[in-house]
Amino acid sequence: MSNTIKKLAILGSTGSIGQQVLDIIGAFPGKFRIVGLAGGKNTSLLAEQISRFQPKLAYSPLKISLPDKTKLSSLEDIATHPEVDIVVIATSGKIGLAPTLAAIRSSKKIALANKEVLVMAGAIVVAETKRYEAQIFPIDSEHSAIWQCLRGEKAEVARLILTASGGPFYHYSPAQLTKVTIEEALRHPTWRMGKKVTIDSATLMNKGLEAIEAHWLFSIPFSKIEIVIHPQSVIHSLVEFIDGSLKAQLSIPDMHFSIQYALSYPKRFANPSLPRIDLTRLNSLTFETIDYSIFPCLQLALDAGKKGGTYPAVLCAADEIAVELFLKQHISFSGIAEIINKTISLHQGTTNPTLDDILAADEWARDTALKLTNKASLCLKQ
Ligand code: MG
Repeated sequence: MSNTIKKLAILGSTGSIGQQVLDIIGAFPGKFRIVGLAGGKNTSLLAEQISRFQPKLAYSPLKISLPDKTKLSSLEDIATHPEVDIVVIATSGKIGLAPTLAAIRSSKKIALANKEVLVMAGAIVVAETKRYEAQIFPIDSEHSAIWQCLRGEKAEVARLILTASGGPFYHYSPAQLTKVTIEEALRHPTWRMGKKVTIDSATLMNKGLEAIEAHWLFSIPFSKIEIVIHPQSVIHSLVEFIDGSLKAQLSIPDMHFSIQYALSYPKRFANPSLPRIDLTRLNSLTFETIDYSIFPCLQLALDAGKKGGTYPAVLCAADEIAVELFLKQHISFSGIAEIINKTISLHQGTTNPTLDDILAADEWARDTALKLTNKASLCLKQ
């Protein structure tokens, strides 16, 4: 049992998280084998990954030539292949939703990095995970921290405390925020990530989405989820139990830690290539309360999460459009929250939505957000 090789499928292998997943796999050749790889638009990187890891199955959205032993497959086929033990969902956006549900219905273990899966369809994902006895292992550093703090605990939780670096602007005034440039917004102080999540971190939308994910992952009400600014990003989140004790998880801010934990769980692997914290060189760990007037996106996300139904899907879709418009210099940084707010206020929500309702709300929100900015004619398809 102890020498069992875990067989993996990785959806989104060419993205920032996907590449770091492969770093971990590469560091432990005796512990993991890749059965399927699904990449994005970077086909040369995908081809490199395929020749290195020799998966049985591969998916590419663009034309790619594959070696003889690798079969071109759909995302769903890769996620449900009988040999696969763990499906890593490292895609971003709603593209991860259908294959994740397919993997859940095949009772797989799912290492989840894709935020939209739980934000858009948390109720369905949680219900199906129970029904099919699947398991979800979070990859995001905050949820990994909470998961690690809860491990072995039977005690009642008083609060989950999510830490937020605050991004580059947590000390800005609303007036300063209107003048923020793309370069400034993309310069994250502590984490190295893809563009969309970096902008979401600067608006704190990312933290709002994480609160919604935490609500579903740990079945905890929003009233027991708190967010504090912790600029050093060393404490990745905390759990407060009913006796007042807090447990926290710390590491250098590097996604390899939480990725490796999701893959090694329930064990821990010694990985000398990951940097260690030298406590004597940590000058201080500081915490600050959040000024919600500077981060309207965070409030919008928490409100959408509490409303539930199709609102979180609308939030995600409007944010995706708004961030893209910002990155293409069509709107200002503060315009991101304005578009999301207007889109949500026009939405007629559905309670207990089906997956089709959720996908329809997503389409509606994309159209609406674009129309609001008179950018409907812009081609935003990647
Ligand atoms: Mg995070």
